[in-house]
Amino acid sequence: MNFVAKALNLSTSAADRLEERNILRKAIVKHPFFPDIVEAFRLEKKFGFYEDGTVVVKAVDGVRVFRGFPKIRRILVLNPALKKHFRDREIALEEKMNGYNVRVVKIGENLYGITRRGLICPYTTEKVRERFEDDFFKDYPDYMLCCEAVGLASPYVPSDVYGIKELDFFIFDIRDSRTNDSISIREKEEIAESYGLNMVKVHLVTHSDDFDGIKRVIDELNSNRREGIVFKDVEMKLNPLKYTTSYANTSDLRYAFRFFGEYARDFMLARIIREAFQSFEFGEGEEEFNDRCLRLGRAILEPMVSSIKECSEGKTIYEESILVFSSREVLDLFKSHLRLLGVDFKLEILDEAKKIRVKFKRIMRGTNDRIEGILKGSTWK
Ligand code: ATP
Ligand code: MG
Repeated sequence: MNFVAKALNLSTSAADRLEERNILRKAIVKHPFFPDIVEAFRLEKKFGFYEDGTVVVKAVDGVRVFRGFPKIRRILVLNPALKKHFRDREIALEEKMNGYNVRVVKIGENLYGITRRGLICPYTTEKVRERFEDDFFKDYPDYMLCCEAVGLASPYVPSDVYGIKELDFFIFDIRDSRTNDSISIREKEEIAESYGLNMVKVHLVTHSDDFDGIKRVIDELNSNRREGIVFKDVEMKLNPLKYTTSYANTSDLRYAFRFFGEYARDFMLARIIREAFQSFEFGEGEEEFNDRCLRLGRAILEPMVSSIKECSEGKTIYEESILVFSSREVLDLFKSHLRLLGVDFKLEILDEAKKIRVKFKRIMRGTNDRIEGILKGSTWK
């Protein structure tokens, strides 16, 4: 424990507060698959200027700090929000990919994948070790590659829109793991190129008053079922801003209402409000507006009615994905990891001829219990 306070340069009173508020949590299940790590803790909440998801690792060769990925503020209208924030600076429209946030880091002799909340995930780490060489880290040992992990074989956010059957990583930021300073977009592109790393797509480099150009990118992303844009100062001196497509808003709603017992009302409300501001700003005609109304209404009702129906037939409501493991050891470790996360799950091996293909079901207990209760005559509150 002491090494954490020291690594974060905390005063004695700050260290006490950290303890009292129970902010420090375990970041790993100890296992030989993580041979370089003696102990690892993460911040469950923001603490001082340390972001939540910050990880402190006691490694075999010293103590390391990996800062949490910073929050990205969201805009609901392009105009004047972009102008107000970026003024006359050049901005890059990077694709916002829909997967989960992973910091790829090197600790001791091996690569590791840290998820957003600061857990070192065995499944992600196995994939990281298969997809990345460590030549980048030989040249930049103190940096972390911030990536979106996307694909069908994802335990957290499975997605079929990128045509990736397993799981792949797309770099969006390269940061100093200790200070969280980010390198410029140009430098990032050069590094991605020279080390052969996948990078998220930059769709356009422009200025905030280029409404038509920006709108065109959003429309194209929307028709390709993509999530949205992260607007970045090309120098990475200002904080980025994010903006999502109507497709993303409605598909989030579909998901949240299917599992309405697990999702907070804020989650749903925020996405409905995004639709309203976009509809207003894009000044749509009657037909487009009617389409949006229908899309939104369907995204809310259809998934709920289908969950109710399934429950009424005695089925369990769960989210399902197919994961692909390279080793049995990691599969077993991943089960312990899910227990650490408190996930209610079922795993079923489909085949293990080459790789181990596993059906992973995340049971949505809240939704199941809610629907069952109501169907048996319980009141809402
Ligand atoms: P936040 O806490 O950052 O506001 P959130 O957890 O609500 O975010 P999102 O709304 O998905 O998540 O938006 C931020 C996330 O988007 C980042 O954490 C990152 O994983 C993901 N992302 C995808 N593409 C990019 C990109 N090009 N640049 C930055 N982040 C990206
Ligand atoms: Mg996301």
